Amino acid sequence: MANNLLEIKNLRKSFPMRGQKSSIFSQTEQMLAVDNLTFSIKEGETYGLVGESGCGKSTTGRMIVGLEKPNSGSIIYEGKDLSKLKDKEFFPLRKELQMVFQNTLSALNPRQRIGSILEDILKIHGVSDAFDRRDQAVEILEKVGLSEYHYFRYPHELSGGQVQRLGIASALVIKPRLIICDEPVSALDVSIQAQVLNTLMELQQELQLSLLFISHDIGVIRYISDRIGVMYLGTLVEEAETDELFENPLHPYTKGLFASVPDPFIQEIGFSEFKGEQPVRTNDFKGCAFCSRCPYRMEKCAEQTPAFLEIAPNHKVACHMYDGVERN
Ligand code: SF4
Repeated sequence: MANNLLEIKNLRKSFPMRGQKSSIFSQTEQMLAVDNLTFSIKEGETYGLVGESGCGKSTTGRMIVGLEKPNSGSIIYEGKDLSKLKDKEFFPLRKELQMVFQNTLSALNPRQRIGSILEDILKIHGVSDAFDRRDQAVEILEKVGLSEYHYFRYPHELSGGQVQRLGIASALVIKPRLIICDEPVSALDVSIQAQVLNTLMELQQELQLSLLFISHDIGVIRYISDRIGVMYLGTLVEEAETDELFENPLHPYTKGLFASVPDPFIQEIGFSEFKGEQPVRTNDFKGCAFCSRCPYRMEKCAEQTPAFLEIAPNHKVACHMYDGVERN
């Protein structure tokens, strides 16, 4: 079995809520974007993180690549806790941990040619020879399904799918080991989504990459992931290998997510979609995160936080309905 490349333990991140003062100390109330989050990614694995918008998926990705600092917890990569590193110590690791965003175009300089964009990334990361930089830029363009022709073009001359391919090329050009893909195909048409996902999967195999794939789209997550973590209100409520999760979903939230997918098989087995909005999680939060929307809630659900327990091999769930269920 492959080793863990990244281990996230008890990660927590809060943001101040504008205009909200806590009544006792008149301090600004905090919204917990991520709370007690624990999971790992193995070498060569695609780990899918799925949940509604605002559940903390993107904040998690941003903390892994150092764009946000967690309040507590650890992000262990190569024996180092990334959350404790200073910017100078983190910089050499940036080469190995890259991110692809949903809207690649907004992050690019519209006046810079694509070849020059890729070469700048290589230069920052120590490729000093100009001929090497050009060769590597063209090579990566070809790998992601673009060509030398695009080397001389500007970002606005590309289609939506080509822009996302350029985003993947920008991440891959410095040969990372882990890529965080944050909704990289959400803005694309379904047929283009499949093409970009297939390219990503081929490159992952060829380059032995690990991927953290973040999406609200359970269909996309199912297509690309080896294992899936279902996230709700800043924490994982269920985790399993992809086939196991779809054959045997346990958490009411996971079942509700599946109900929102127009898939005849999922509809046939009769899950019902949950109602209501995701609430805000604050410092004084207690009980089950899903309590306010759960059709199966019990008295203790509002008071006691369910433990995240492995109740079948590699299948974990946080729900009081499975308290005392024997592992098999
Ligand atoms: Fe529903 Fe209770 Fe399970 Fe939470 S712990 S998902 S409220 S049954």
